[in-house]
Amino acid sequence: MSTPVLVINSGSSSLKYQVVDADDGGALAVGLVERIGGSGHGRLTHTVDGEKHRSDVAVPDHAAAMAAMADAFEQHGPDLAAAGLVAVGHRVVQGGARFGHSVRVDEAALEIIEELSALAPLHNPANAAGIRVAMDTFPDLPHVAVFDTAFHLTMPEVAHTYAIDRQVAADHRIRRYGFHGTSHAYVSRQAAELLGKPLEETNVIVLHLGNGASACAVRAGVSVDTSMGLTPLEGLVMGTRSGDIDPAVVFHLARTAGMDIDAIDDLLNKRSGVLGLSGSQDMRDLVDAVEAGDADAQLALEVYCYRVRKYVGSYLAVLGRVDAIVFTAGIGENADEVRELSLRGLESLGIEVDGEANRARSKEPRDIATAASRVRVLVIPTNEELEIARDAVRVTGS
Ligand code: ADP
Repeated sequence: MSTPVLVINSGSSSLKYQVVDADDGGALAVGLVERIGGSGHGRLTHTVDGEKHRSDVAVPDHAAAMAAMADAFEQHGPDLAAAGLVAVGHRVVQGGARFGHSVRVDEAALEIIEELSALAPLHNPANAAGIRVAMDTFPDLPHVAVFDTAFHLTMPEVAHTYAIDRQVAADHRIRRYGFHGTSHAYVSRQAAELLGKPLEETNVIVLHLGNGASACAVRAGVSVDTSMGLTPLEGLVMGTRSGDIDPAVVFHLARTAGMDIDAIDDLLNKRSGVLGLSGSQDMRDLVDAVEAGDADAQLALEVYCYRVRKYVGSYLAVLGRVDAIVFTAGIGENADEVRELSLRGLESLGIEVDGEANRARSKEPRDIATAASRVRVLVIPTNEELEIARDAVRVTGS
């Protein structure tokens, strides 16, 4: 039995795709089209059976990128017509207060996704463009939109409300939405499974630490708080984003440095975080620089982990009882230094990392807490494509 789903993540300048078996999570093909809309040629990478096929492609827009993807399947396989695809699952960043679940896409849903571009101008237009061209390319398959925000729509009012003028907030739909929802949903379910507990009795704090990073407090399988807000800028320190800062930094920069809104947006989203502090946004480079004695890198790593620790502390308070703290995504799954430093000194709260288990390298879900640790510490590889594929199957009843 296999249930293959084409999963598409259409960004402003890139198109990522994967054919995933929703039954066992196996990836039949993985690909990426880069530099869509750029001045020169774009680049396509199509991986099937462990073999990478690279080519230069002309991709002035998303339609051309989708055509290049279809070509790659024709040339290198698998044959999509013969694969028995049951659905196409699309990642959509912002579902607003409208989408608490994945939906089958029709014209009405697409219009809402496009309308939500006001809240996510960099993402939703590209997501919607990808859906439109995919619907033209695969007109006979059901298309499902899976939202980064949907898992967090369960946050109580007290967690998603900013303390600003109510009318201004309502007029402009300003509230905390949260992101990385597919990852937090997938990982929190996997955690309950690893703990051998029913999801309804399991409370976890998920730390999704990738290029973007967010923490999520999950009570009984339901998101009750998360660190990203109106946009992905809030919360943890990230590769290039500052995470939490005093909003008055913006006024200060405008008044004293004469920076305009776009320049400040660029500073806080693209030139801050680990990059701003150390000169490199990649955690591997940062860890290497720390080992080489670089003081800026050392401070960047400490600031990064200190922010993680503060969120762990606040979500312990939010949840009251916590079964496990779960690390996931590129940094969470791989950087033992970050895991160790983030949870250092929390023994009195029942959190104790086993040094040796933490340093052991593995791709498997695992428990790295000491036997005595009251709260378990888990490392669980995320799989957002599989979560999207499963949602697509669920929604279409395939
Ligand atoms: P994205 O948000 O783009 O999906 P990922 O989840 O792939 O990002 O995470 C990317 C981050 O993971 C990068 O900062 C990278 O340095 C880090 N990373 C990947 N492998 C390792 C490793 N072995 N050790 C430390 N950091 C790693």
